[in-house]
Amino acid sequence: MYRPTTSYYFKNIMSIDPQRCLRCLQCVGACPRKVLDFADGNIYLRNACQCAGCLICESQCGMKAITHRTVKA
Ligand code: SF4
Ligand code: SF4
Repeated sequence: MYRPTTSYYFKNIMSIDPQRCLRCLQCVGACPRKVLDFADGNIYLRNACQCAGCLICESQCGMKAITHRTVKA
């Protein structure tokens, strides 16, 4: 008999610290899913639901302006 197992779903919360960000756009170009964009002087998440949580943007940021944390949805 099939018994469903308990599963937890997690979501990835990403934030960009505008005080640290140099607006170099490295993260925008590096994101394989085109989640990030630049407008009005700031980086923002254009397409947050497409974020795969791959952390490429975080690894590209020399200023450590990008942080991710995972929370239970
Ligand atoms: S890579 Fe870092 S410093 Fe550069 S635009 Fe992105 S968040 Fe800002
Ligand atoms: S974690 Fe990956 S998919 Fe999400 S914004 Fe950064 S580079 Fe793009």
